[in-house]
Amino acid sequence: MDKNNLEKQTAFISEEEKVINWQEVQVAFKKSFGNEVYTSWLEKISLVKEYNDYLILGVPTRFFRDWIVSRYLDKILEQVKSFKLSLNRIEFKIIEDNKGNTDFIKINEINKVTEIKDSILNYNRLNSNLNFANFIEGKSNDIALSYSKKVCEHLSRYNPLYICGGVGLGKTHLLNAIGLELQSENNVMYISAERFMYHFIKSIKKNDMVNFKDFFRKSSVFIIDDIQFIRGKESLQEEFFHTFNSLIDKGSQIIISADRSPSKLDKVQERIKSRLAGGLVVDIDTPDFDLKVKIIKKKIIEIQNQFKEVINLNEEVINYIASECKTNIRDLIGILNRIIAFSRVHNKTLNISDCKNILKDVFNQIRVITVDKIQNVVSNYFNISLSDMLSQRRSRPLARPRQIAMYLAKKMTSRSLPEIGRRFANRDHTTVIHAVKTITRLSDQDDEMKKNIHQIKNLLLEQ
Ligand code: ADP
Ligand code: MG
Repeated sequence: MDKNNLEKQTAFISEEEKVINWQEVQVAFKKSFGNEVYTSWLEKISLVKEYNDYLILGVPTRFFRDWIVSRYLDKILEQVKSFKLSLNRIEFKIIEDNKGNTDFIKINEINKVTEIKDSILNYNRLNSNLNFANFIEGKSNDIALSYSKKVCEHLSRYNPLYICGGVGLGKTHLLNAIGLELQSENNVMYISAERFMYHFIKSIKKNDMVNFKDFFRKSSVFIIDDIQFIRGKESLQEEFFHTFNSLIDKGSQIIISADRSPSKLDKVQERIKSRLAGGLVVDIDTPDFDLKVKIIKKKIIEIQNQFKEVINLNEEVINYIASECKTNIRDLIGILNRIIAFSRVHNKTLNISDCKNILKDVFNQIRVITVDKIQNVVSNYFNISLSDMLSQRRSRPLARPRQIAMYLAKKMTSRSLPEIGRRFANRDHTTVIHAVKTITRLSDQDDEMKKNIHQIKNLLLEQ
């Protein structure tokens, strides 16, 4: 056989029995399933053996196999078929303790939750100090409080009850209070979304999903804190969705908290968002002056009773703290504790100038706010991508957030107008001026705009 012929022949053979290029298939998976699903699931599938009309693929666990078979098999088959026309079947083989297994755990960000202590008791423990009796009512939380109490009287009437609000405003306190109220007569499960995730991953690793499902689905009151944690975590969302549905089906009450409303939960599946919004959504706002004063006074009484000591803070000092602390109730209590600690150490009744001194560093804390940070927070807040926000498109849902971000960049950083323009995809400084003017005017006239700006500023200051 001459050389030419040989080449022809091998080319012919390799064409006929072409070994599927798994890397190429993986690239196609990534494209069609999206990064989240890909890194959580598809990436872990390996090619074990190739036959003419079927493939054997390797997966790390039985649960993993069931999961992808029930959700993705058709699409996987279709994808792989585009590489191998003769294919009509896929089989999975569980390859235990392989590298894929540990990778899988890592991908699911277990590193974020490893510090959580691994005890069942630990995560279902309600804090008896966070009850209704010591939750103080104000304009910012009265609706959330009243429905939290109503839920306890009429289980399943508002299902789920969804409480949202920024950090430190009392969400965890309310969830706890509900749990305490109901625990004597119900099987109450209280867990943070983060811990739910931890147990989920642990169960996958131990191949013990049956217990996991039973454990969470047997509760008659299921309380889950900080649900925003599931954002961007596809597999966790799936599991949460199933838990949620089976609890609702059997008539259990669900109470959820989050740092934002269901519609603002980006990177969460639509069907979950609509489930979350399907009961009653109540929100907690930042406290007004009156509520802050009430809380300070109540805390002082609590501390006096607890430590059997007299705390002398005059009205002026209390008002000062209440008006200066603009963030949230957690910070307010922190500041109060700091002042009380100081007065203990120095054994004196503090006046307002002492307080000013003590708190100088707290209130003047320099927060470094950058244009980048503003852009990120604003685009997140409005649920649009950063690149859309910076793009040249002029539709209002993009243009308004863009203008708000420019306005905040001018107000909250020391950057000049041309510098800000450059950071917004090289826009002219006159565009920035126009944005600042527009938003200034709108936030005077429009309550919604005022509220948005206020909330975004808080988000920026919290970070
Ligand atoms: P979140 O979960 O919203 O971040 P928390 O529930 O942890 O906030 O509240 C932060 C702190 O403020 C807790 O110590 C909580 O007890 C206290 N707190 C919040 N709201 C109130 C309130 N209305 N009355 C009394 N204490 C409150
Ligand atoms: Mg909380």
